[in-house]
Amino acid sequence: MRTITHWIGGKPYAGDTERTGPVYNPSTGEIQAKVALAGEADVHEAVRVAAAAFETWSQSSLSQRTKVLFAFRELVNAHVDQLAEIISDEHGKVLSDARGEVQRGLEVIEFACGVPTLLKGDYSDQVSTGVDVFSFREPLGVCVGITPFNFPAMVPMWMFPVAIACGNTFVLKPSERDPGAADLIARLWAEAGLPDGVFNVVHGDKQAVDALLDHPEVAAVSFVGSTPIARYIHQRASANGKRVQALGGAKNHAVVLPDASPDYASDHLVAAAFGSAGERCMALSAAVVVGGPSRPGGPGGSGGSGGSGGSGGSGGSGGSGGGYADELVAAVSEKARAVRVGPGRDPRSEMGPVITAEARQRITGLIGTGAEQGADLVVDGRGLTVPGHEKGFFVGPTVLDRVSTGMDVYREEIFGPVLSVLRVDDVDQAIALVNANPYGNGTAVFTSSGEAARRFQRGVRVGMIGINVPIPVPMAYYSFGGWKDSLFGDQHVHGPEGVSFYTRAKVITARWPHVAAPTGASYHFPTSH
Ligand code: NAD
Repeated sequence: MRTITHWIGGKPYAGDTERTGPVYNPSTGEIQAKVALAGEADVHEAVRVAAAAFETWSQSSLSQRTKVLFAFRELVNAHVDQLAEIISDEHGKVLSDARGEVQRGLEVIEFACGVPTLLKGDYSDQVSTGVDVFSFREPLGVCVGITPFNFPAMVPMWMFPVAIACGNTFVLKPSERDPGAADLIARLWAEAGLPDGVFNVVHGDKQAVDALLDHPEVAAVSFVGSTPIARYIHQRASANGKRVQALGGAKNHAVVLPDASPDYASDHLVAAAFGSAGERCMALSAAVVVGGPSRPGGPGGSGGSGGSGGSGGSGGSGGSGGGYADELVAAVSEKARAVRVGPGRDPRSEMGPVITAEARQRITGLIGTGAEQGADLVVDGRGLTVPGHEKGFFVGPTVLDRVSTGMDVYREEIFGPVLSVLRVDDVDQAIALVNANPYGNGTAVFTSSGEAARRFQRGVRVGMIGINVPIPVPMAYYSFGGWKDSLFGDQHVHGPEGVSFYTRAKVITARWPHVAAPTGASYHFPTSH
């Protein structure tokens, strides 16, 4: 069976061959490859090589770096389909979705191609007589990326294009569940002309991660994954004096006001809850429906005024039922039942399997707990089998209505194709509910009221907000990141905050005296004159 090995110093690196992990094809349930799991010695070798490469790469000119970045951009672009196939086979997501993730990663590479502009410093002429001040930013050294299974290409690409463009070297520790994309990416960097040792990959589990967090030559750690691990990474790497950004898990709410078209809202709710089998950190897993009277004109009619009217305007019946909420749940359920679930490689599939058998068991267990704790199980995705793929890790789209905030399905990040519907009376209750949740990654509001949308965007304590946009992933030239338990550290990834994370500032105060004559020593603190 094929073994996916590390990539160190511009070539494959076998390292400690004793420990390996299985790489499944979630659509068939079969093990398709093994992945090497790095021990401490492998990690030390990767960091040693990256630290040596930093000596020259950090001194390379901006033109040399952009030349490599542009070549890498072309190569990734030419390999979108190949990357998407690897991702689909190891993760399970459908091909179109996998292509989309590579595309979003490419946008960060394109952003990093603009590094000469991004690294422009400041200059102040004549701050004091004969004195100028200027600043510029320098790379940090060896930067590390530790990434989750759900975006094996895009999430690493949030990190390394910016880090490398800024003059750092990089060690990527991708998820051991779908390591194949990182392997191809490393080969594309080499083909693009990146000097050996600037980009390295070590595969592995906790053992590899801990060795990276403790290594004295690692300057910075970028992490994306679940909240308990993000918290741990932040604490351990910070205690070791490293710069850290650790993005955690999520529970993203879609607040639907009764002036939103139920057809539009239900289309987007279903796509954002069940796309990629709900295994997206920006998936909508909780729909908070503001009640309201049934809309006389149906979709496009005037509807209730709950969105704009605050506590007085919701139409009142949301908490206990509500015509609008009933109408929306019916539309969502009908569309959930119609989602075509199948293997990721089948172009007819709209949703693939989840990542492992354990994940499926956890998800189906939580669905059962939701029903036991009093939610209405309107669409039940347990027990779904896909003909010809009976051993695949499939769970069908699931809708639970009348969920309350104390239930496990609401409190846990399910990370599967499960949408929980909560009902509230007005937009202020909806905002309070979103804010009481410990996560703060993304959220969306569906409404036709600008006033309600503005109140929502200003009132919610969440990092990324969509207005009639279900998955508001920022463009590469903005930064991506959540609040509260969805981010440990100060800075978001890519965009301006990414550049700032991977560099540190120098400020120079310079005087070039016209005549190098002695001016006499002065013992007071320097002031301008
Ligand atoms: P995970 O936390 O299990 O793993 C993430 C990385 O940490 C992997 O590389 C893994 O090998 C490593 N790891 C796992 N356990 C470890 C341990 N005990 N000690 C040290 N390292 C460890 O996450 P996952 O299951 O791969 O990915 C899904 C999670 O990632 C979800 O919670 C999802 O919300 C989150 N996520 C967040 C974002 C975001 O932008 N906030 C984006 C994508 C995914």
